Amino acid sequence: MSILYRSDAARAAAWANYFAEHAPDLDFRVWPDAGDLDEVEYLIAWQAPAEFIVTLPRLKVFFSSGAGVDHVDFSAVPAHIPIVRMVEPGIINGMVEYVSLAVLALHRDFFDYVAAKAARVWDPLEVPPASARTIGVMGMGALGCAVLARLASYGFRLRGWNRSLREMDGVEGFAGPDQLHTFLEGCDVLVCLLPLTPATKGILNREVFSALPAGAALINVARGPHLVDADLLEALDSGRLSRAILDVTEPEPLPVEHPFWAHPRVFLTPHVASMTQPESAAPILLANLRRHQQGEPLSDVIDRSRGY
Ligand code: NDP
Repeated sequence: MSILYRSDAARAAAWANYFAEHAPDLDFRVWPDAGDLDEVEYLIAWQAPAEFIVTLPRLKVFFSSGAGVDHVDFSAVPAHIPIVRMVEPGIINGMVEYVSLAVLALHRDFFDYVAAKAARVWDPLEVPPASARTIGVMGMGALGCAVLARLASYGFRLRGWNRSLREMDGVEGFAGPDQLHTFLEGCDVLVCLLPLTPATKGILNREVFSALPAGAALINVARGPHLVDADLLEALDSGRLSRAILDVTEPEPLPVEHPFWAHPRVFLTPHVASMTQPESAAPILLANLRRHQQGEPLSDVIDRSRGY
């Protein structure tokens, strides 16, 4: 029984060590040292190019090494092979940390103080309580709900918007395109944690920014193509939005001439909000693989028709 790892090379050893210790019956191979591809039944990879998938005639499950699967060409993976995405505590904790940091930095005016320090200006701003701010999260999935739960501990008012209505204590829930506008009207900070699908591409646009309260801020930690860059620049320059914190861009890396780099009210990080952590991801993946071997249903299988 062989499993092939064809993802981030820097973290391959951690994966291999875990499997060697906890699943010695599995022949764990690391690309490009893949051996006989006819023997590979499980694949852990970021991409699934068609020309590679056809070289794995016995493939049973494709485990994506990331939480998002928008970059995977589903048509390259035969329909009978489940595509499993990565849902693991390391990714969730990383995202919770990043969004908490971003929300708190906005709430406590840290970006203003960075500018004030550079200008040697001692200018204390008002410090409103967290309960005076409403944070809205688009996408109440594994990450969105974890982020909302942590933000609740600071005392922020919370809203969530989802495809299907999701009930969560302390969170005002909204669902579907019909309730998007009402959801947005109350959000001082808008956090995007949607999967990238045809329905969500370009969703962070002029119309959405106009529905937010004047001076609201945006945090995009989902995918670059959710955002219409020109609409964000217009909203920032008109004062409609106060700031944007972007962890993702289109394309990545962001070209050096892109206006986001020099914009004083855009804060950029290079797609590092959260990452799969082998130490916490390997046990989850192995448990899922064992379920498959025992004929039980796999967890976290994506729905190809929905795109996530
Ligand atoms: P999930 O699949 O768990 O959740 C997605 C949520 O979005 C679901 O609750 C779903 O609703 C909702 N949704 C999907 N489509 C729509 C829509 N058209 N309108 C409203 N709501 C919608 O995903 P995760 O929470 O695990 O991850 C979210 C995204 O975060 C990933 O797809 C990835 O792109 C991004 N990500 C970014 C990282 C980074 O480092 N920047 C790291 C990891 C992930 P429903 O419940 O009805 O299905």
